Amino acid sequence: MPLLRRRRIKIILAAVCIAATFCSCSFGGRGSENAEKADFFAMDTYMSVTAYGESAQKAAELAKDEVQRLDKLWSVTDENSEIFAVNGGGEVSVSGETAQLISFMLEMAKRTGGALEPTLYPVVKAWGFTGGENRVPSGEEIQELLKNVGYEKVTVSGNNVTLPSGVMLDTGAVGKGYASDKAAEILKENGVDSALIDLGGNIVMIGRKPDGKEWKIGVRDPEGNGVVGVISASDCAIVTSGVYERNFTAADGTVYGHIIDPKSGAPVDNDILSVTIIASEGRLCDALSTALFVMGKDGAIEHWRTHKDFEMIMLCKDGQAYVTEGIKDRFEADEKHKGMKINVITG
Ligand code: ADP
Ligand code: MG
Repeated sequence: MPLLRRRRIKIILAAVCIAATFCSCSFGGRGSENAEKADFFAMDTYMSVTAYGESAQKAAELAKDEVQRLDKLWSVTDENSEIFAVNGGGEVSVSGETAQLISFMLEMAKRTGGALEPTLYPVVKAWGFTGGENRVPSGEEIQELLKNVGYEKVTVSGNNVTLPSGVMLDTGAVGKGYASDKAAEILKENGVDSALIDLGGNIVMIGRKPDGKEWKIGVRDPEGNGVVGVISASDCAIVTSGVYERNFTAADGTVYGHIIDPKSGAPVDNDILSVTIIASEGRLCDALSTALFVMGKDGAIEHWRTHKDFEMIMLCKDGQAYVTEGIKDRFEADEKHKGMKINVITG
């Protein structure tokens, strides 16, 4: 089955998961509330913006327009995008939001010791994760490509971005999170104080549900269908990275996921199945979910202890969950996963 189709089916399943989790939240719980849902496809995934209140319809449409506009700026494959222009090498003048996205990716690359590596594009492409067919590149090919990888090779000065020839940016790990924050800004500017933004699993909640209760967000079971549990939250962002999101099975049966370890140039294969990050901003959640997945369980716990500006739920190959102390009371295991051991990570 072509990769894209397989991925879309997975995304639909994920969406169904979230929808199932949400079936208890009535649209327009206060009776007089309008609920408006804008569904669309952008950044290679299905997205939706659900807004409540009198200005919901206009606001949801504007938020959708904004995400689609950013997709056009940040697509790595669209020849008319700003990222495509930047990837051509040399000094390129870009829009303020593109300069901000790149600066943020560089900041997060530094913070995570290069676990988030914005210049991995040539390697991601060689594995066939962006366009083309999936394949297993040779060790030699990877070593050659890794010579052009390294966030310190990128310079941002004002709105000018400079890349040496052969160095290429990939916005895949942060673009959706960044766009979800922009969508939230637009909704708020347009008078919305209750909304749920879901950009391919990058969730941002504005306020609470219209009935005043918290939102319930499912954490997908990385090894099966359905959810392992539900997070109750409001006014924050939640993003998950996992092997199940996008992967392929090679001829020898090995399953390769789309998150690459920048040190080896190969898909991550460590003790984690999925990492869910909860924080105030979608961009931080998106960057960290990818980076902490790369770091592995111990590295992720250490990163939390150093920064503590986010909460996380890690599902690991040992069958256990590792949950930071600030979120433990908001995470409830699903009926089928009541036996799962939940370890609380403390400072
Ligand atoms: P998704 O975008 O599917 O929700 P992520 O946010 O974890 O998942 O981003 C994964 C994408 O980021 C990959 O498809 C690839 O384009 C890119 N990528 C893979 N590994 C890394 C990495 N170590 N650092 C930065 N970007 C990466
Ligand atoms: Mg990410």
